[in-house]
Amino acid sequence: MNVVSAVRKAKEEAVKIAHTIFKEGLVFETWGNVSSRPTEKQVVITPSGIHYEKLQYKDMIVVNMSGEVDEGKWKPSSELPLHLSIYQARKDVKAIIHTHSILATAFAVCRQEIPVVVEDLAQVVGGPVKVAEYAHPGSDELALNAVKVLGTENNAVLLANHGLVVLGDDFPTALQRCRVIERNAQIIIWSKILGSPYTLGPKEVKELRKKYLYEYGQKLLKRGSHSC
Ligand SMILES: [Zn+2]
Repeated sequence: MNVVSAVRKAKEEAVKIAHTIFKEGLVFETWGNVSSRPTEKQVVITPSGIHYEKLQYKDMIVVNMSGEVDEGKWKPSSELPLHLSIYQARKDVKAIIHTHSILATAFAVCRQEIPVVVEDLAQVVGGPVKVAEYAHPGSDELALNAVKVLGTENNAVLLANHGLVVLGDDFPTALQRCRVIERNAQIIIWSKILGSPYTLGPKEVKELRKKYLYEYGQKLLKRGSHSC
């Protein structure tokens, strides 16, 4: 796929994913944002302050890795520094979804990580969702704090008193992680009402993730057929 087609596809996907997270209640009004990196040198990101219900393909912004606008008539999301810093730090990341989903944000407000208590968080996200130190929304400090906690392997981070940032090698992966994290936040809150939830240990979490990556679903069948 050439650069023009890749950017066009990224814009289409960004609009679609923005509408999906709005419909699912993971974001509201104009808060939250999504981006993807269709080429090494460009990022597609949602604009600042436009309601999700009104968001269209033509509203998407294309920026270079320094944050200068290459395409689009609006100001990019105020969290552009956060998105760019993550892409610069993590070559494996191609899509980012930043939500303000209520239950994950409840953990962010309490500055508590979301621990692994059921298999899906271990399988899909790969471990607990840790909390980055508080910084003003849209600031370079917020971006630095998030990148620090994400490190080289974490796929999601809670922003203290703010929301959630989820990474993926594409939008469907990042969206699935957003859903799984919100579901886990809900399970933990409910289980705390019933008693004291047991957390799965690092060894078990690692094993669940490994099995999911290499054995779950139809992946083995596909790989098997390729190797024949
Ligand atoms: Zn935010």
